[in-house]
This record gives sequence, structure tokens and C-alpha cells, in this order.
Amino acid sequence: MEQNIEWNGKKYYNLNSFLREKFGQKVFKISLDGGFSCPNRDGTISSLGCIFCSERGSGDFSGNRKDSITKQFTDMKKMMNKKWKDGKYIAYFQAYTNTYGKIKTLKALYDEALMQDDVVALAIATRPDCLSDQVLDLLEEYNKKTYLWVELGLQTINDNTAEIINRGYKLKVFEDSLDKLRSRGIDVVVHTIFGLPGESKEDMLNTIDYVAHKDIKGIKIHLLHLLKNTPLVSLHEKGELTFLGQQEYTDIICEAITRLPPEIVIHRLTGDAPSELLIEPKWSLKKWEVLNEIDYKLSKNNLYQGLYFHTN
Ligand code: SF4
Repeated sequence: MEQNIEWNGKKYYNLNSFLREKFGQKVFKISLDGGFSCPNRDGTISSLGCIFCSERGSGDFSGNRKDSITKQFTDMKKMMNKKWKDGKYIAYFQAYTNTYGKIKTLKALYDEALMQDDVVALAIATRPDCLSDQVLDLLEEYNKKTYLWVELGLQTINDNTAEIINRGYKLKVFEDSLDKLRSRGIDVVVHTIFGLPGESKEDMLNTIDYVAHKDIKGIKIHLLHLLKNTPLVSLHEKGELTFLGQQEYTDIICEAITRLPPEIVIHRLTGDAPSELLIEPKWSLKKWEVLNEIDYKLSKNNLYQGLYFHTN
């Protein structure tokens, strides 16, 4: 079979291309805050949290957690309708750990999200150590009712880095949860971060090679952001942090894209951070410039997703 080297004019298979293929129209994500906590913040595993995690549990663009899911959804949809009429929506539980709660609570929140007009899919971000058999049973039910994907925060496969960032679980936990989700037919999207403390380019690409050979549907690659009021600030103050430059980052991203198989959907190639919270790297605020630079480098060097992906 001939290898795909372009997706709607892009050199990689991005989320828009996937959603258009799957739903035949424009589909938007609406980020919701279900009022959850996280075992890595509430003292169950740790009270520090992952050292990069913002005060809003990495859900800085989600709705207001004091509002109901219906209100959050309606408010966001109204805003989006100004730009784009007749879109469909993915209800995205983004902030904190969205399977960390009683089954009854989870069910009520997911049901409320699915009841909203024009919702065609459910996306649930969580930790791999928050997927008990009961939670998996519940997710399996939703997977039969709607299109569902579960997002797992992995960030790196390096267990030493995982200690430094206080992730709170080992790689084996991720592997087991991924297998359990896949055995129930649930699609999985994995979060990774480039630029974590102490990580070399080789470490970052090792993580990419690892996920490239796993049964995952999608990947998000974030750039490490130093945000105000996060534990990472103290490392920065001690002079223990270095940040990737824009050129360096886009070079590594291009290499990562070539190593991913063509069927993995790339949801993200950089992070979004609220400008009022971002301390470093400031260049990342120009998100479109970064994405354009990636496109330019891929085209100029005849690179595309899957080019250096090897099945052996
Ligand atoms: S698991 Fe998610 S919510 Fe919990 S501390 Fe880490 S990044 Fe934050």
C-alpha cells in the first residue's frame, strides 16, 4: 500500500483531518471542569502534584468549575457559535483527573455532558492509576453509546524524569492501563512533554519511539511551560531549569513526527498557556509562528509523518 505523505495539505495527520474524516464536518472541543481533584494533589499520592501542573489542574482554558456542566457547555458553545455556526462538539473533561470520583458522580457528569445539543463525542483526561475495573466498566458503556477517547498523561517514559516531575506512577502502570483500555476497545490519546528537567533530545525521542509502537489512537506533544504558582518555579529559582529554544524545539518536533506511524493522530505539537501565567519560554506564546515553522521545516526537508517509523 502506498504511504500517505500528506493530510489536507499537512505533512502530518492532525486532529482536524481526523475529525473531518470521522464526522464529515467541523467539530470543536469544549473543555469542561467537572470539579474533580487529583490523587497527586490531594495527599493520596502526594500533595505537590506534577511539578508543572497549574493551579487549575492543567485545565486553564476549561469552563468555571463552580458552574454546572450544562452552563459551562452553553457558555463556551455561545462563544464558538460567533465564529462558526452549525459545528458539532466534543465534550472534553480536561481539568484535573476526570475519573477520580465515585462511579455515581462520574456517570452524572458524563451523562450531563452527553445530553448537550450537538455533542458527538466524549474525551476524558485522566491518570493511568485512576482506572479501576469499575471505572473501566463505566467507560466501556460510554464507548458503546458514543465516540469516546481517554487521554493518559504519560509525559515521559523515563522513570528518573518521572520522579523529578513527581508524576507519581511508574511506566508499568501506564502500560497496564493502556492494555486494559484497548482490550475494551477504547481509543487512547497519550500526552507527552518535551523539555522536561534533565531530558536530552534522545530522551524525548525515546518517548516518541515508545508510544509510536503502542496501540494508541493519538498523541499530544506539549512543550514544558513554566507557569506561575507551580512547584517548577522553585527549580527555576535555583537555576536548575533550562528551556528549549524555538528552533531547537521545532527541530525535535519535526524528527518526532517522522518517527510516528501515519495512523496516529497528532492532537498537539505545542502547548497553550495563559499569557498571564507563563514565565518561560515566552516564544511559545506565538503558537501560530511555531506551527508555521514546523510546517515550513517539514516541507523544506521533505519530511512527513511515518517517514522513519519502523515496525521492527
Ligand atoms: S496528574 Fe494531572 S491534575 Fe494531577 S498533578 Fe499531574 S498534571 Fe496535575
